[in-house]
Amino acid sequence: MARLDLATHDLRRMTLGAETVDYVLVRRYGRRGVAFKVNAHGLTVSAPLGMPVSRIEGFAHESARWILRKLAEWRTRRIQPMEWRDGAALPYLGRALTLHVAAGPRNHVELADGELHAQVRHTLPAAVERAVVAWYKLAALSHLAGRTVTPARIAGLTPPRVLLSSALSRWGSCNARREVRLAWRLVKAPTELIDYVICHELAHLRHMNHSSAFWAEVARQCPDYARLRDELFATDHLYRSF
Ligand SMILES: [Zn+2]
Repeated sequence: MARLDLATHDLRRMTLGAETVDYVLVRRYGRRGVAFKVNAHGLTVSAPLGMPVSRIEGFAHESARWILRKLAEWRTRRIQPMEWRDGAALPYLGRALTLHVAAGPRNHVELADGELHAQVRHTLPAAVERAVVAWYKLAALSHLAGRTVTPARIAGLTPPRVLLSSALSRWGSCNARREVRLAWRLVKAPTELIDYVICHELAHLRHMNHSSAFWAEVARQCPDYARLRDELFATDHLYRSF
C-alpha cells in the first residue's frame, strides 16, 4: 500500500509553441511512460518518479499540438456569448450585476445598488458593449491597482506600476521594469482569484521564472494558491464572454 501511494504532485509551467502552459506533474512509483490528461482543471502530466523534467517536457513538446488543442477546447467550449440587452447579468468581482440599458443624450455608465445603468445614445448591442467595456476597464484599473498595494508591502516590495491588458489567454504578466500587466477581464472574478494572480505576478518581481524558488515565494504570500489556480482555470470561461 505504501508503494501505491508513493506519488508526488508538483505545480510547474512550460512553454509549448507560443503558449505558456501551467501543469501538474504527478510522479508515481512504478509508472513507466509519460501520459497527458486535460480536463477542467488543466493539464496533468504523469511520469515515472526518477525521470528528469527536461525529458518529460520533451515528450510534451512532441504532443504539443494535441495538448494545446485540448486546452483551447476547454477554454472556449463553455464561453457563452454575451447578450447586450436590458436585464442581462454581468460578472463583477465574483457577483452578478444586472444591466439596465436606456437611451439618453450621452453615453454614461454607472454602478448603483448592484445594477449597472448604461445610458447610451443608441441602444444597439455594439454601442452598449462599447460603453460597458469602457466602464469595466476604468473599474479594473482602480480595483486591480488598489489590490496590489497591501500584498506588495507585506512581501517587502515597492508597489509596482499596474497596467491593464486586453489579453484573453493570460491573466497577468510582468517585466524587468517592474510593470505588472493585469487583464481587465480579471475584475469579473472573485477577489480571492484576483489576489492569486496578483500574488503570482508579485512573486515574479523576485523570480523572473517558474522555478521552485518562485513557487515557494507564491506559497509564502498565498498559501492556498494551488486551489485558487485550479479554480481560475476551471471557471475562466465565465470571465471571457466579453
Ligand atoms: Zn508566472
